[in-house]
Amino acid sequence: MPDFLDQNIKFLPGVGPNRAELLKKELGISSFRDLLYYFPYKYIDRTKFHKIRELDAHQAYIQVKGTLGNFELIGEGRKQRLLASFHDDTGSLDLIWFAGIKYIRENLKPRQEYVVFGKPSVFNGRMNIIHPEIETAASQQINTGVLHAFYNTTETLKKRFLTTRAINKIQYNLAQAIEGKIYETLPPTVREPLRLMPLKEALKQIHFPEDTKLLQKATFRLKFEELFYIQLKILSLKHRRQEVFKGFVFEHVGYNFNSFFQNNLPFELTGAQKKVIKEIRRDLGSGKQMNRLVQGDVGSGKTLVALMVALLAFDNGFQASLMAPTEILATQHFNTISRMLEGIGVTVALLTGSTRKKKREQIYAGIGSGEIQLLIGTHALIEDSVNFSKLGLVIIDEQHRFGVAQRAKLWKKNAGIPPHVLVMTATPIPRTLAMTLYGDLDVSVIDELPPGRKPIETRHYLENRRQQVYDFIREQVTKGRQAYIVYPLISESEKLDLANLEQGYELLKKVFPRFKLSIVHGKLKPAEKDAEMKLFKEGQTQIMVATTVIEVGVDVPNASIMIIESAERFGLSQLHQLRGRVGRGAEQSYCLLMSSYKISNESRKRLETMVRTNDGFEIAEVDLQLRGPGDLEGTQQSGLGFDLNIANLGKDGEILRVARDTAADILDADPGLQAKDNQLLAYHLQRMHTTEFDWSVIS
Ligand code: ADP
Ligand code: MG
Repeated sequence: MPDFLDQNIKFLPGVGPNRAELLKKELGISSFRDLLYYFPYKYIDRTKFHKIRELDAHQAYIQVKGTLGNFELIGEGRKQRLLASFHDDTGSLDLIWFAGIKYIRENLKPRQEYVVFGKPSVFNGRMNIIHPEIETAASQQINTGVLHAFYNTTETLKKRFLTTRAINKIQYNLAQAIEGKIYETLPPTVREPLRLMPLKEALKQIHFPEDTKLLQKATFRLKFEELFYIQLKILSLKHRRQEVFKGFVFEHVGYNFNSFFQNNLPFELTGAQKKVIKEIRRDLGSGKQMNRLVQGDVGSGKTLVALMVALLAFDNGFQASLMAPTEILATQHFNTISRMLEGIGVTVALLTGSTRKKKREQIYAGIGSGEIQLLIGTHALIEDSVNFSKLGLVIIDEQHRFGVAQRAKLWKKNAGIPPHVLVMTATPIPRTLAMTLYGDLDVSVIDELPPGRKPIETRHYLENRRQQVYDFIREQVTKGRQAYIVYPLISESEKLDLANLEQGYELLKKVFPRFKLSIVHGKLKPAEKDAEMKLFKEGQTQIMVATTVIEVGVDVPNASIMIIESAERFGLSQLHQLRGRVGRGAEQSYCLLMSSYKISNESRKRLETMVRTNDGFEIAEVDLQLRGPGDLEGTQQSGLGFDLNIANLGKDGEILRVARDTAADILDADPGLQAKDNQLLAYHLQRMHTTEFDWSVIS
C-alpha cells in the first residue's frame, strides 16, 4: 500500500531534484519517511549567546551575536580562503571559508548584524570559526522552543549548503506537509499503560522540541517503538519456529551418560553446570527443537556440559557434532574429549581443513553410516559433502566466531526434523545485546567457576618497567610455571606485526637464555603450530610467544603468566579471552598488560577495566558502552540484521527490557496477533518484513 510518506523527497518544498539527489547519495534519504526518521543527533539551547572574549578552543559548538567586518580573500588556488572578521562588544574573531566563497560574498553583507554558530578554534594565536553557520540576527527562527536540533551532515553536503541548519529548514517544511498524515503505529493497549506520547506528537517534538521534558517523552516513545517491534519480530519468529519445528525427544539416560558420570568424571560438577544440564534436558524432552545459548565465562566448564549432552544424544541413538572456530581449538577438543571418553566406546572423529583426502573420505563414510557418533571439527563440518545418518545435536563452541547464517546451515543437515542446537559462548554478552542478537535463543548461564580457582591478578605496566616484568617472568618460570607472551596481530599491519613478533621472539631468547621458547602465529602450518603447542603443553618449552591464535579455548593449566604486549591495541573482550588462558591451575596466576605511555582515553579505560575486574559480564558491559553494539566483536559476523535509528543497546537497556516484556506478554496471550487490538501490530510486523530489516539473518 503506497503511503503518503513514501513520496520522493524531491517533491518537498525547499528540496527539488538536485538536493534530493544529494540527500539520497550522502545520507540515504529518498522519501518523506526517510527524512522524517532522520533524527537529530543533539540539541543545543539557542537562547544562549556567548561573548567573544569568553571563547576558547576547547568549547564545543557556540553561538555569538555580532557585526560582520569586511571580506578578505587570502592565498591562491587550492589554498585560497575567504576571511571576515566578526566582532561583538567584547572582542573579535575570524570567520573562515574554504569553499562556497562566491555564495558567501554575494549573500552576506559587511557591517550588518548576524548570529554566528560553530566550533571555535585557534590559528596563529587568533580565535576563528571555520565554515560557521550564519544568519541575520533579524531572521526568524523557525523553532518555537529553546532547543535547537542538530543533524549530521557530510562535508559534501556542507559544501553544497546542506548544513544542519538547512536540514532543519527542510524538516520544518516536511512538518507542514505531513500535518494530519501521521498514523499511530502502537495500539492503545500498548501505549496507555506506558503513557507513551502519540507518534504524531513524538515526531514533532523530536525535530522541534518545545522543552526538555517533552523531548524526553518523545525520545522514549520512539526508542520504545523501535525496540518493541524488533522484539515482537524476534519473539514471534521464535513462537512460530516452536510451532513448526518438531524436535527429537531424548528420553533415555543410558549407558553412555551413566558410565561417564560414574567412572570417567574426574571431578564434581559445579552447581551451575548441573543447573544448565537440567535446563537442557528439559528442552530435549519437550518434543521441540532446542535452540539454546550457554554463556559462561572462560574456564567455567562449558566443554564438559556439552559433552554430557552429547552423551545423551548417543544414548538415544543419535549422532552429535561439535564445531569450533579454529583448528587448534577443534584439535584440542578432540584430544580432551577422546581422553575423557576413554573406555566408554564412543567413536569420535576430527574433521578440519587440513584433514587428508583419504582420511576425509573415511570420515564421510563413517558419518553416513552412523558409525561415527561424534564429529568434532571446524567450518569443514558445514560443507555439503558432510552428511550424517542421524544427527540429533549440534554444538557450536565459541559462537561469536560463527555467523547466524552458518548456524542455520547446520540445522539443515537433517531432512525433516532439525537437530537440537546448543551454542556456547565464552564472550559474555551483555543482556541487552543477547536479547537482540540471540533473542530467538533460550539462554542458560554458567555463573560459577569450578572450586579452587584463584582470581587472576592483573597489572598494567608502562614501557619503562619492562625490566621488572622480565624479572618477574624469570622468577616465576624458575619456580616451574609457564608463561605466554602475546603480540597483537591486526590484519592491516600484518607484515609489521609479524616482524614485531619475530623480533620480540629473538629478543626474548636473549633475555631468557636458560629457558626454552615456543612461537606460534597464524602464518605457521597447522602441523607446525600443533607441534609447538604440544611442546608447550608438555612443559618442554616454558615460554610461548604467540599472536592471538592462542586466544580461544587453549588449555594449559600450568601456564600461570600472561603478558600482553601493546595491550592498548586489543579490544576488551579479546583481552579478557587472552587472560582466560591462565588461571586454570592451582597456582596464583598473573596477567601483565604492557602499553606505551601515550594511549587514548578509551584504551586507558579498557586497561583500567581489566585491572579492576575479572568478571566477564562486567567487562562486556563496559565494552558495549565504550564501543557501541555495532563494533562489538562478533556482532558484524553474526549480523545484527538491522540498524537502530534512535535506540542504543548500550544505553537503553531499561527501555529494551520493557519493550521485550511488553512484546512477550502480547504474544503469550495472542501468538498469531489475531485479536482486534493487535491488528495494528500485525500490520507493522508485516511491513517490517518487507522493508527495513533483513530478518533472514535472524530467523
Ligand atoms: P570453558 O568454559 O572456557 O570452555 P573448559 O570447559 O575448557 O572451560 O574448562 C576449563 C577447565 O576446567 C578444564 O580443564 C576442565 O576440565 C575444568 N573443569 C570443568 N568443570 C569442572 C568442575 N566441575 N570442577 C573442576 N574442574 C572443572
Ligand atoms: Mg571452551
